[in-house]
Amino acid sequence: MNKNLKEQVLRSSGVNVLKCMRCGKCSATCPSYDEMEYHPHQFVYMVEKGDIETLMKSESIYKCLTCFACVERCPRGVEPAKVVEAVRLAAVRQQGGNHLEPTDIPALLDEDLPQQAIVTAMRKYAK
Ligand code: SF4
Ligand code: SF4
Repeated sequence: MNKNLKEQVLRSSGVNVLKCMRCGKCSATCPSYDEMEYHPHQFVYMVEKGDIETLMKSESIYKCLTCFACVERCPRGVEPAKVVEAVRLAAVRQQGGNHLEPTDIPALLDEDLPQQAIVTAMRKYAK
């Protein structure tokens, strides 16, 4: 367990993971459930246990849509989406650079891609 990473994620998310009662409602409502190796309730649980590095290496941090459905659904006000975001930020910071630069975008575009997806990708893949 990396205590510094746990503290960093708890501080930047502002989430009290101890409030979670493991009901799984956040994951049941998550539209990215099938795409995510680890689901919102697992993020909360694994952060509590200090298993942050496993989450940082998972593609799940980029599969979350930041839709906040899990936040709306949680009966305990845990806000799992903020935990996912904090882990993603920790991973990007550790990488030391942006995964995607604006100059990379033209080559990735296709005509069916909504503009909002481009904006979201820039936000997710940047520091
Ligand atoms: S914010 Fe992310 S983890 Fe939460 S429901 Fe939406 S996609 Fe799932
Ligand atoms: S909905 Fe809230 S209380 Fe239930 S598992 Fe998810 S984070 Fe924990």
